[in-house]
Amino acid sequence: MHQLTLAEIARGLADKKFSSEELTKVLLARIAQLDPQLNSFISLTEDLALQQAKAADARRANGENGALLGAPIAHKDLFCTQGIRTSCGSKMLDNFKAPYDATVVAKLAAAGAVTLGKTNMDEFAMGSANESSYYGAVKNPWNLEHVPGGSSGGSAAAVAARLLPAATGTDTGGSIRQPAALTNLTGLKPTYGRVSRWGMIAYASSLDQGGPLARTAEDCAILLQGMAGFDPQDSTSIDEPVPDYSASLNGSLQGLRIGVPKEYFSAGLDPRIADLVMASVEELKKLGAVVKEISLPNMQHAIPAYYVIAPAEASSNLSRFDGVRFGYRCEDPKNLIDLYKRSRGEGFGPEVQRRIMVGAYALSAGYYDAYYLKAQKIRRLIKNDFMAAFNEVDIILGPTTPNPAWKLGAKNSDPVAAYLEDVYTITANLAGLPGLSMPAGFVDGLPVGVQLLAPYFQEGRLLNVAHQYQLNTDWHTRTPTGF
Ligand code: GLN
Repeated sequence: MHQLTLAEIARGLADKKFSSEELTKVLLARIAQLDPQLNSFISLTEDLALQQAKAADARRANGENGALLGAPIAHKDLFCTQGIRTSCGSKMLDNFKAPYDATVVAKLAAAGAVTLGKTNMDEFAMGSANESSYYGAVKNPWNLEHVPGGSSGGSAAAVAARLLPAATGTDTGGSIRQPAALTNLTGLKPTYGRVSRWGMIAYASSLDQGGPLARTAEDCAILLQGMAGFDPQDSTSIDEPVPDYSASLNGSLQGLRIGVPKEYFSAGLDPRIADLVMASVEELKKLGAVVKEISLPNMQHAIPAYYVIAPAEASSNLSRFDGVRFGYRCEDPKNLIDLYKRSRGEGFGPEVQRRIMVGAYALSAGYYDAYYLKAQKIRRLIKNDFMAAFNEVDIILGPTTPNPAWKLGAKNSDPVAAYLEDVYTITANLAGLPGLSMPAGFVDGLPVGVQLLAPYFQEGRLLNVAHQYQLNTDWHTRTPTGF
């Protein structure tokens, strides 16, 4: 049963082959048995899950239907869940039970999804390896000595190991697409504003976006359908109708114009990944796509710009964790300053502290113009490059990451080495564009992802291309040994 996709689960539940309660029990037992190897969950919500599963079965018995009704999922532990610990992977929020549900959580619950638990993540979503979590590193089910990617690494590892069919993630600079690539999943970062950020603990507000992680594009369509939509509680949510994503999957790719940026194939890219990317292009050509080389001339400036803007926003967002209003408070503070200093010094891990310092520096008087303002200008140039490219092509295709999953600990002493892994993903966040990563082969037994980018609100196009590719390839069906 654990091999079923969301689409297959929906059919099985509709045909009364099994109940949501039965399925939920099977998956909870599987998590108890296998997750100790992976550490993909921070909290399990067994009671809630069984209660939601029974309620979904009752709704189905009353004639209700719906692709998510009774479907087991999990939430990255930065989506607020009422009465349930919402830790953001941090000691700072280890004792924080959210007083309300995030919009994404509430919407999926209303659609009948069953929440099995909260997944592990890099502390405050800062990272690409899931090693900065207060709850310990997550392991990649494809090789337990390797990282699963981050920051949504718990969601990715759990879905890849077939502990559950799909999970939510968030993507500020690649945190859905990069762990999807490193664990052989399909992951989609929607257009900025497509999915509500209300109740999603903020890292960098102008870049953060929630989205689905699943094994197939078909399942991403189902989960995204339950997450997307206008939310008056989020001032950057966009009031655009949500299309039927599942209905968009079967469009023909005849004449689809694919742009492959020449800048993607620079020295940093593992040549074996480059070969797999070109093989995926050949596959799409067979389906009728036409390919064109394009240029994104400002791409080289993306990492420096991102690593100014994201920490700047983080330094501001994380100022609310002061030992007074939320979460961790140090023992016996001597005075107010001591309370602030020690609560933050003890509650935040080293990567979060590093980013708060970088961000506060970049925003400080005298440096603001040189760093933050400059980074914002680069951001506009990057967006302009994409707008020009999308005048010529329908989607942009390239690698999701320059390397496959690295060994646990391998990049710990050099934060910049980890930042460089984000080179292909962060441009979509800087421009606010939707992006998807899909499985496209293996290198040394480790999965490789291909990234597709589309114009604003063209999530359906991304899902369509990925689905057609998945109908003609079987990379996404491969299961890690032992799971
Ligand atoms: N790796 C990037 C960072 O550390 C992206 C993280 C994310 O998307 N949340 O900032």
